[in-house]
Amino acid sequence: MDKVSFGHEQVSPEEKTRRVRGVFSSVARRYDLMNDLMSGGQHRLWKHAFVRKVRPRKGETILDMAGGTGDIAFRLARAGARVTVADINPEMLAVGVERARLRGIEGLVWAEENAEKLSFAESSFDAYTIAFGIRNVTDIPAALREAHRVLRFGGRFFCLEFSQTQWPGFATLYETYSRRVVPKIGKAVASDEDSYRYLIESIERFPDMPGFARLIEAAGFRNVKAEPILGGLVAIHSGWKI
Ligand code: SAM
Repeated sequence: MDKVSFGHEQVSPEEKTRRVRGVFSSVARRYDLMNDLMSGGQHRLWKHAFVRKVRPRKGETILDMAGGTGDIAFRLARAGARVTVADINPEMLAVGVERARLRGIEGLVWAEENAEKLSFAESSFDAYTIAFGIRNVTDIPAALREAHRVLRFGGRFFCLEFSQTQWPGFATLYETYSRRVVPKIGKAVASDEDSYRYLIESIERFPDMPGFARLIEAAGFRNVKAEPILGGLVAIHSGWKI
């Protein structure tokens, strides 16, 4: 792979992975608070809708990739699933472990993993989830192929990610908000304008719903669907390994 985008900059793939790691190391301690502030608490509703779609079953094995501080994993585990939370960033995982302890959520497996090259054997999981993680991965097709490999036949793939809203007025409003306001909140609350600027730029560069659906299909998934939330500001993509 030649140069890849880090926000609006072009950098080498290794440099992107290094910088993304830096962003999440820097935001880890304030990540949950910032999610609430930046989305006005909306991310909780999106995550709730996402887990409803996954329909976790008691006893099934789920890999929550780029699971960070555990928001999705906690919801899946409450439904009785056996969840592995995997993330490339040990600082995000450490915050997650502490949050799980404070909430009395037991039985989660926490693993430091790069989504592009997983250490799990093939056919290890019944479902794979990734929420607000895939756009940060340097080689997205490689991560999707790995998702396909570690799922058993009949396994489900689910991705929650920002996309592009099709509601015109709302798109303009959101663009102004995200470009002008979010980095300022990042500066004021976390003294970290640059990390939040990257997070917004990475949203702007991510493929639209049909474009991302094509990448999921190219990794081998079938019955791929994209379901928009708020006109596509956020989208849930799903697919089957069959
Ligand atoms: N899923 C959590 C949530 O919804 O709150 C965390 C999302 S957070 C925006 C993105 C996460 O992706 C970070 O924890 C980051 O460390 C992780 N990440 C970025 N690149 C990754 C990679 N190549 N492999 C695994 N995790 C990665």
